[in-house]
Amino acid sequence: MQASGPVSGEVRPIRIDIPHKGLVVLAGPAGSGKSTFAARHFAPEEIIAADAGGSEDGAAMAGEAVQRLEERLARGRLAVADANALAQAVRRQLLALARRHELPATLIVLAASVETCLERNAGRPRPLPSRVIRRQARQLARLLEHLDDEPFDHIYVLREPVLRSGEYAVRRVPLPVERPETGPFDIIGDVHGCFLELVTLLERLGYRWRGDGMAHPAGRQAVFLGDLTDRGPYNVSTLLLVTAMVRAGTALYVPGNHCRKLYRWFVGHRVQLQHGLQRTVRELEALPAAERRAVALQFCRLFEEAPPYMILDEGRLVVAHAGIKEDMIGRMSRRITSFCLYGDTTGQRTPEGFPVRRDWARHYRGPALVVYGHTPVAEAVLRWNTINIDQGCVFGGRLTAFRYPEGEVVQVPALAAYDPRPAIGPGPSDAPRAGRADTAVQAAPEAAAEAPPPPRAAAPAAVPTGEANPAPCPAPLGQG
Ligand code: GDP
Ligand code: MG
Repeated sequence: MQASGPVSGEVRPIRIDIPHKGLVVLAGPAGSGKSTFAARHFAPEEIIAADAGGSEDGAAMAGEAVQRLEERLARGRLAVADANALAQAVRRQLLALARRHELPATLIVLAASVETCLERNAGRPRPLPSRVIRRQARQLARLLEHLDDEPFDHIYVLREPVLRSGEYAVRRVPLPVERPETGPFDIIGDVHGCFLELVTLLERLGYRWRGDGMAHPAGRQAVFLGDLTDRGPYNVSTLLLVTAMVRAGTALYVPGNHCRKLYRWFVGHRVQLQHGLQRTVRELEALPAAERRAVALQFCRLFEEAPPYMILDEGRLVVAHAGIKEDMIGRMSRRITSFCLYGDTTGQRTPEGFPVRRDWARHYRGPALVVYGHTPVAEAVLRWNTINIDQGCVFGGRLTAFRYPEGEVVQVPALAAYDPRPAIGPGPSDAPRAGRADTAVQAAPEAAAEAPPPPRAAAPAAVPTGEANPAPCPAPLGQG
């Protein structure tokens, strides 16, 4: 899924894309032009100066400035920290604020030369001692040297020639999850390699073959909710169809937990070949090498470019593989990505081995309609403003499309139960139409949700018995 932005210090026009909500940190020695840059590109209420009334020497943001930053981030606004941010501790402190409020953090380094900074400093009414400027210039050099280690989402460096020429453009951009598409959409639940049912469903919805993909004559877009592969019979064909449609703009895609695992296999991680992945891998390994490589490249690109969820139709519709909570919509973080992929897992398992999951939809009261899948349920019914359209096609159920904005459900029955039919588990207790829908069909004990990955620090505990793809995808890799 999406990785961080560019690092560019070359002397040519630079496009600085600032997410319209989140944190911007300006870093540079006193006199590098931070306050001037801020005033030129941001509104006064967006700018929070760390050194208001103090010196630029401080090691941490003052309490009041932190409070003002927090207040804006909590409201989902843009906040620009005009601190010198040359000390790593200050950058970490600021970054932590953005992370806590689950919004992107952008670092803009104003890499003016020490001579320029000294000269401008000398012209100030209350100049700093020049040794302070020189020390800050050394801190700047160290920051530039280790820029790759900076965990900001986007980093831009404006070097002296660019600063002088002004050859850069600052633009506000939406978050990757905020999409311009307004529909109409045909949202399709977990396919899991049920290619024949998928083609039948798309045809029934009015899509026709065009090139390698299918397109709707009226310009409707399909939206795939992830889990394209595993367990079912035609995983490669499903991947090729969906990637072609997304490339052609006739479909959108958000990833599922099975997609993430397949991606990890493609790029050479050791993953357990289970929960149906073994079937996908077997199909891939039967392909000629060049074909396998082409599938790998296409899927890896699809996965890397996919946001964890999408806000569509100007906020009226949200799609996420396993769902999303109201307060997560419009924000981004590892926690939210994990929720979108795996649902509201507690990390525990029932005595039978089921992953324990909270029923987030039961508490959802948001204004946006949330369409999701992940856990097969018997019927697609609206619960509050949510609808689960995974009717377990691969287990012999049905493949579902939810037409938006019509609200119509179109379904194709499975041609076979490709995977042993799971036991009907207990459904959510507040089903508005008792006895009908909402019956959670829990897949095989270890199945529907493979456990979310451990935090990064715990990664070396990796599965020793897993199998790695012998020929990993050579594509440039983003973060899963
Ligand atoms: P800060 O200490 O990093 O916030 O730097 P300031 O924005 O306060 O700028 C310090 C001095 O440099 C001010 O007198 C600005 O007018 C001047 N300055 C800032 N940016 C530029 C620039 O791009 N070109 C020129 N010529 N002067 C600038
Ligand atoms: Mg300043």
